[in-house]
Amino acid sequence: MSAQVMLAQARDHGVQLTGPVPPDTSRQAMAGEGFDISAFTIDWHVHTATCPQGATAGSWREQQDSPGHDVIRIRFPDRTCAIRPVRAKCTRRTSGPRDLVVRPQAEHETLQRARHDQSTEEWKNHYHRRAGIEGTLSQAVRRPGLRRSRYPGLRKTGLQLLLTAAAIDLIRIDAWLTETPLARTRTAPLEALPEAA
Ligand code: SF4
Repeated sequence: MSAQVMLAQARDHGVQLTGPVPPDTSRQAMAGEGFDISAFTIDWHVHTATCPQGATAGSWREQQDSPGHDVIRIRFPDRTCAIRPVRAKCTRRTSGPRDLVVRPQAEHETLQRARHDQSTEEWKNHYHRRAGIEGTLSQAVRRPGLRRSRYPGLRKTGLQLLLTAAAIDLIRIDAWLTETPLARTRTAPLEALPEAA
C-alpha cells in the first residue's frame, strides 16, 4: 500500500484504504535508535524543519527522485551538529550537511500516520478481519466462479453476485452441520523448502 494510492482513493472515491505501508528502511529506523525521519518536525508553511537537536534547516529544495516522484530535500548545514555521539545518531557522515528527503506534505503525513497506526494493537485487530474477507473471496472464486460474470449486463451480473453470496452461505451451513474441518492455509513454495543444513 502506498500513500499515493491511499490519497487517490480517498480523493476520487471517498474510500479509506487500510493496509500495511512499507516501513522506514533507514538505518536509524531499522535499528530502532537514532534520528529517523519521524524525529524531525517539518513546518510546511514556512518550508523548514527542525531536527531533534533543535537545529533549523538551512535549505528546502523541491526536486524529483530517480523514479520521477516529487520529493523535497531539506538540508541541515554542517556546522549545526558538532557533538559527535549525537551526530552519529543522525548520519554516518562525520562532516558535511545532513540531508532529509521527504515526500510532499499530504503523502508524507499520510505515510507517517499509516506507519504509526499499523504499529498499534487496534490497527492489527482491525486488519485481522482481512483474513476472513480474503477467505470468503477465495471460496467465492474457487467454488461458484466469482471471477467471471456468466451473463452480459450489470443487472444480471448483480444477480449473479447475490446468488453467489447465497451459495456460499449454503456451503458454509452444510460444512458446519457436517462438521467439515476448515481447509489448511496453503504453504508458500519458498516456506516449504527444507531448511539449509
Ligand atoms: S546532525 Fe544536524 S540534523 Fe542531525 S541532529 Fe545533529 S544538528 Fe540535527
